[in-house]
Amino acid sequence: MSKSQRPLSPIERAIDAACGYKPTDDVAPSQVWLECPQCGRKQRVARDETDPPSAYRVRFSCPKCRDEARIVEYFDAQGRKIDCDGNISEEGR
Ligand SMILES: [Zn+2]
Repeated sequence: MSKSQRPLSPIERAIDAACGYKPTDDVAPSQVWLECPQCGRKQRVARDETDPPSAYRVRFSCPKCRDEARIVEYFDAQGRKIDCDGNISEEGR
């Protein structure tokens, strides 16, 4: 993401906040947020080719907390749960 972007106005920031988007919480399109449900650690990681294209956040146990279930959950930029094909999950969240 370019650093030459102009700063957001308070209104734009409010809109972003309402959409759940935080400018300081962004990743490049080639990256996703990896979030560990156990310890809550977040880090930017390169998008895996198996990740759905609309995935923005991937919930997955980090190596430290790895559990046996090893459930991977995907969420889009709006925080909606999506399946591995990028379809919005029926269960929602
Ligand atoms: Zn962890």
